[in-house]
Amino acid sequence: MFQTIKRSSGMDTITIRELELFCNHGVFEEENILGQKFLVSAKLFLDLCPAGEDDELTHSVHYGEVCYMIKDFMEEHTFQLIEAAAEQLARHLLIEIERLEEVEIEICKPWAPIGLPLNNVSVCIRRGWHRAYLSLGSNMGDRLMFLEDAVATLEADPCCHVLDATEWMETEPYGEVEQEDFLNGCVELRTLYDPYKLLSKLHEIENEAGRERKVHWGPRTLDIDILLYDDQVISTKELTVPHADMHNRAFVLEPMAKLAPWKRHPLLHLTMKELLDELNKKRDTERQRDTEYE
Ligand code: ADP
Ligand code: MG
Repeated sequence: MFQTIKRSSGMDTITIRELELFCNHGVFEEENILGQKFLVSAKLFLDLCPAGEDDELTHSVHYGEVCYMIKDFMEEHTFQLIEAAAEQLARHLLIEIERLEEVEIEICKPWAPIGLPLNNVSVCIRRGWHRAYLSLGSNMGDRLMFLEDAVATLEADPCCHVLDATEWMETEPYGEVEQEDFLNGCVELRTLYDPYKLLSKLHEIENEAGRERKVHWGPRTLDIDILLYDDQVISTKELTVPHADMHNRAFVLEPMAKLAPWKRHPLLHLTMKELLDELNKKRDTERQRDTEYE
């Protein structure tokens, strides 16, 4: 499971149009008490090939069951905003329906009480699972415990699945600061978080491990970096993806070359294995030059 990574543009869909429900969402108290009509549409993105090949319902998603899931969720909760209803419903479906890669939810309110005659108002959102590769490192205290607790915390989060992880490897510190050796490794993550939410989740985990940000590249109980997030390129004040220095770090490329040797860096266009080979070549040349000067 979770192995098909087809992006939604090329992905098959099942569409549920305007499921009519009576629920209590709204900003006004009257709306919460009296309720009103809602129309929910859902476009489910998944690979329909297996079901198409063998005509087997268990290889697809049962749209009847999805309709009842939507109905139950919409009736059991009361949101002020249809934005929140759509967000939480999308998340609920993505977590509960294993084959679902992405979902588009439209919630329409035909009786929106705005004091003007309008046909209807609706919100439409699209959410899905993403692939991220993370690098984890620790060089203070019980290093193994900090690393394994971090992976367990990610795994316990319904919005994340740890798909694969490397073994932890002992590495020498990087940068100028004199400090203890590190224990490093990488994980492959399937996540519903966008890159910024993922970053703040990782900061939370670092903080729980008692991480203090004192010295840049200094000792730390736990450091978690986002190496790759789908094939996205992000360059903002808070976040650089792919990680700006990953191609220079053996403690990142060695585990990555084991975890995903075929994975291509979206800016450098080399695979993880090729990046590691390049780095090793560069280090060999430098070493050779150093011995010649001695
Ligand atoms: P480093 O990991 O380089 O040793 P820190 O862990 O202290 O440094 O991170 C400093 C800041 O780097 C974070 O607060 C975060 O906003 C920013 N940052 C930028 N890109 C990334 C990334 N890809 N992964 C993690 N943090 C990042
Ligand atoms: Mg970091």
